[in-house]
Amino acid sequence: MKVTERILLGGHISTSGGISKAPARAAAFGFRTMQVFSKNQMQWNAKPLPEEEINLFRDEYRKVGLQKTMSHASYLLNLGSPAEEMSKKVTDAMNLELSRANSLGIDYLVLHPGSYKDTTEKEAIKRISMILDSVLSGSRFTKVLIETAAGQGSTIGYEFGQLSRIIDGVTSSDRIGVCFDTCHVFAAGYDIKSPEGYSETMDLFDSEVGLKYLLGFHLNDSKKDMNSRVDRHEQIGKGLLGLDGIRNFVNDVRFANVPMVLETPKGEAGYDDDIHAIESIMER
Ligand SMILES: [Zn+2]
Ligand SMILES: [Zn+2]
Repeated sequence: MKVTERILLGGHISTSGGISKAPARAAAFGFRTMQVFSKNQMQWNAKPLPEEEINLFRDEYRKVGLQKTMSHASYLLNLGSPAEEMSKKVTDAMNLELSRANSLGIDYLVLHPGSYKDTTEKEAIKRISMILDSVLSGSRFTKVLIETAAGQGSTIGYEFGQLSRIIDGVTSSDRIGVCFDTCHVFAAGYDIKSPEGYSETMDLFDSEVGLKYLLGFHLNDSKKDMNSRVDRHEQIGKGLLGLDGIRNFVNDVRFANVPMVLETPKGEAGYDDDIHAIESIMER
């Protein structure tokens, strides 16, 4: 059986030519899940999606049998910012991202939680929860997944405890989860490379956050070493997490139905090689 049939593997897929083109591109790799940007990730606003484009996306999505797909929120958003103006802008932007994801039938909106630049970690976490709480009540289908961070600068989400404090501050806890980026967690200093380290790290995640919140993965190798706190993705098997580290995730039966999305540097040009590398380490 192909690896894409054994685990819920996908990749970040380009939406060039229109978002309705993405499902077929994902299916060409055999993917059963994917991640997209539902709007330009470097801009605050976006033209509304035409009704025909939404319907076409939903038809294509069904036709190729995708499930548990993700859209990635804009990189401009900092939910931790203490500036009043930024809070308002970020709330509007989150509502826009969520409304697009809901109309497209996308399950998860992946979000970098933010940073504590210009404030304290504690204050930033409080703000992140507050904004999430205010936007999540309006989301009828799409859940927000806060992404684990590598810990560059003053970013939040590089310790499991920070993720759990954000979730604790959100009332709609059935609308929130975590996207576990293997490159980021490794760079943040968690040993997920050795089998023992992996099992301890996942136990720690379970006790601090709860595995029921682990709803998605970004499956990436890392150009930088454990505890480097630097976020540099690498093709599967070519980095310092290596096949040893990736092996732990793809063979963990608990995650066989959790979407694992590649965000490797070559993008679609490199996914065939990534899939091959993963195939070579499948143990079941
Ligand atoms: Zn990621
Ligand atoms: Zn990254």
